[in-house]
Amino acid sequence: MLYIVPTPIGNLEDMTLRAIRVLKEVSVVLAEDTRTSKRLLDHFEIKTPLRSFHAHNEHAVVERVVDELASGVDMALVSDAGTPGISDPGFLLSRACLRRGVRVECLPGPTAFVPALVASGLPCDTFHFEGFLPHKKGRQTRLKYLSALPHTFVLYESPYRLLKCLEELREHCGPDRQACVARELTKKFEEVKTANISELIGHFSAKEIKGEIVLVVAGA
Ligand code: SAM
Repeated sequence: MLYIVPTPIGNLEDMTLRAIRVLKEVSVVLAEDTRTSKRLLDHFEIKTPLRSFHAHNEHAVVERVVDELASGVDMALVSDAGTPGISDPGFLLSRACLRRGVRVECLPGPTAFVPALVASGLPCDTFHFEGFLPHKKGRQTRLKYLSALPHTFVLYESPYRLLKCLEELREHCGPDRQACVARELTKKFEEVKTANISELIGHFSAKEIKGEIVLVVAGA
């Protein structure tokens, strides 16, 4: 069995009881960054050995990991924060497991886009999750596509690119489109600001932008 285990996006109280039990019971925890996950495991007194599984080695090690799982070794996959597979490694491994008949179970738990979407006050009955936009090639094509969607869409963005991204969104979606910047969710300086794109540019131009960011944009 492969367990996909979400971990907190900032607040350790969001670790579920089941996540702790599963991480204790498996033989190996596959981790995006073993140092980051070691701190989490230490906090919850989980002694399971960690092994590296990240975007730069997943293609090379995925079949070997599935061989072990198929031979009966239970493992868990975690990422640095949130749910593996959501803008993080996970897809390749779960697909490879299912192809080889290895069971995959994903525990429900923390992920950044759900609280951002729900707290934004923008319609969340139907939505599109985009994750990170490409930095250069293909970025404008994606923005054009997104700007025409009839429903809310969700982006992950770095604080350094937030203003540039808001300016691009203003160009593609118009200055009056409603959007939300959800920053530092579940952490001490959490901020969820919903306004039109022009107002958001004004608000975030006036201060240094820090922390992790989800951008939610209303549909056309
Ligand atoms: N797997 C994660 C998930 O389930 O949300 C996402 C991993 S992705 C590499 C990291 C991005 O998620 C950040 O750049 C940011 O856009 C978003 N994110 C993660 N934690 C966040 C938080 N506490 N507040 C706002 N955004 C967050």
